Amino acid sequence: MTMLQENAKEEKKSISFVEQSVEQDLAEGKNGGRIQTRFPPEPNGYLHIGHAKAICMDFGVAENYNGVCNLRFDDTNPSKEGTEYVDSILNDIQWLGFKWGNLYYASDYFKKLWDFAIWLIEQGKAYVDEQTSEQIAEQKGTPTQAGTPSPYRDRPIEESLRLFHAMNTPEAVEGSMVLRAKLDMSNPNMHFRDPIIYRIIQTPHHRTGTEWHVYPMYDFAHGQSDYFEGVTHSICTLEFVPHRPLYDHFVDELQAMENQSVYRPRQIEFNRLNLTYTVMSKRKLKALVDEHLVDGWDDPRMPTICGMRRRGYSPESIRKFIDSIGYTKFDALNDMALLEAAVREDLNAKSLRVSAVLNPVKLVITNYPEGETEEMIAVNNPENEADGTHTITFSRNLWIEREDFMEDAPKKFFRLTPGKEVRLKNAYIVKCTGCTKNAEGNIIEIQAEYDPQSKSGMDGANRKVKGTLHWVSADHCVKAEVKQYDRLFNVENPSADERDFRELLNPTSLNVLNECYVESFAADRKPGEYLQFQRIGYFMADTGSTPEHPVFNKTVGLKDTWAKMAKA
Ligand code: ATP
Ligand code: MG
Repeated sequence: MTMLQENAKEEKKSISFVEQSVEQDLAEGKNGGRIQTRFPPEPNGYLHIGHAKAICMDFGVAENYNGVCNLRFDDTNPSKEGTEYVDSILNDIQWLGFKWGNLYYASDYFKKLWDFAIWLIEQGKAYVDEQTSEQIAEQKGTPTQAGTPSPYRDRPIEESLRLFHAMNTPEAVEGSMVLRAKLDMSNPNMHFRDPIIYRIIQTPHHRTGTEWHVYPMYDFAHGQSDYFEGVTHSICTLEFVPHRPLYDHFVDELQAMENQSVYRPRQIEFNRLNLTYTVMSKRKLKALVDEHLVDGWDDPRMPTICGMRRRGYSPESIRKFIDSIGYTKFDALNDMALLEAAVREDLNAKSLRVSAVLNPVKLVITNYPEGETEEMIAVNNPENEADGTHTITFSRNLWIEREDFMEDAPKKFFRLTPGKEVRLKNAYIVKCTGCTKNAEGNIIEIQAEYDPQSKSGMDGANRKVKGTLHWVSADHCVKAEVKQYDRLFNVENPSADERDFRELLNPTSLNVLNECYVESFAADRKPGEYLQFQRIGYFMADTGSTPEHPVFNKTVGLKDTWAKMAKA
């Protein structure tokens, strides 16, 4: 590519509406030209690919505009959160290839948020409500009908102050009282109808222990935390659009309390990532884990980052996929096949080619001496010469795929059939001479003769044969377990289905093959090494795989069989 073409390409790469807003703010000199974003996970579950979309945006904006992106755990609900989730989130973000500036916790601001709440009560802008959550919900009204004020709405400031302190004691009973902002019970935006801003929770917090007994609600923690940290652009998903006026309202109040008007954070929303045949709700994913419907958060069928990592997806492929779908203001359902195509493309460039036979049948090379072996050279990656080679042992007794032999084959069958030749990958051309069946008529062995002059790489080895088959040597391979995966759910959009999501699970999403044979070089591969089982697909050693008892996860097939099936 010439420089000119390169520049043209660069210019064509359009920026998202989020970046346009950021550029406009920069042009207007807002916040002194500073760009600061944050990724704010709640540590109540593992990250999934939807979070990866938010991560790419939050970190991407900071990177593109010389800003900083911090990581902030939104840990305001101790009853659902824990360090297991914190640790997994830290790990997954790094694996995706991102580095945060500072590491913050919303729990760092519990005192500041408490002080802000006290200030609001003192201003007559918040009150303690002693009704049950059901009563409060009943009084909310509807978008077209005003709500009913709480009987506690106009209680004396002193009383609310005293009760708010009482809420923050070990004796306080969960659900007995809440703190509400005194806003507007007839506002068309339901979030303004005196939202609950603090509740009593007696479960100890994973960081602050039993120091606090009241915890701020999302709307009273998120924008404020952004404000305390100096976030300039608080980028989140579309479901927060109706929360934005409240976000702005509390920022206004903070500015008033601090008597400053120079700096303020701004919320911008983009569309969530939804994928076909899976769910993104942490609540549902957690239920699958807790009810043992999957093999943990990192089950390779899960849409979690750790599940995809275990399955063999690369971080680059996930990022490329997210880049390709882009950011809009409309919710949509993205095709899983697009993600798989991105995975295939990336793994084609980086995977180690190895030989594995998943559905084995014996092939005996009858004219190859018993007991003799040869080390054949196998190219690690034809897409990258620098990846070098390894050797694979050839001998008289081999395993090949059962599907690669047919006794009575049609003309276009370019694999093994009596009287025809094929090349054995990295080895010789062999001619099939026959097969042996057992009493039931099942083929138990195939015979062939090899041509000693046809060794790969030799002069005269270039004789034309249509098919090339993979194989492993029966006495030099390792028996392996291979786990193949199908869609986790049977329906395209489980979240839109009325039935319980458990009923929609695909009962055959896991298929375990117990008698596979892999070359010893493959058996030694570890989780994290991208493999291609030649002619089959991409694979990765599973956690707990050992060279003696290797276990592999199928990442994705070489071709999109799903698209074909849909057409058929
Ligand atoms: P829950 O399922 O418990 O409501 P959540 O999925 O919103 O939680 P958070 O930890 O609150 O999880 O999310 C952190 C950030 O990731 C938020 O900014 C949120 O908007 C974003 N995010 C979550 N799910 C998606 C998704 N499917 N697509 C894009 N961004 C997402
Ligand atoms: Mg959330």
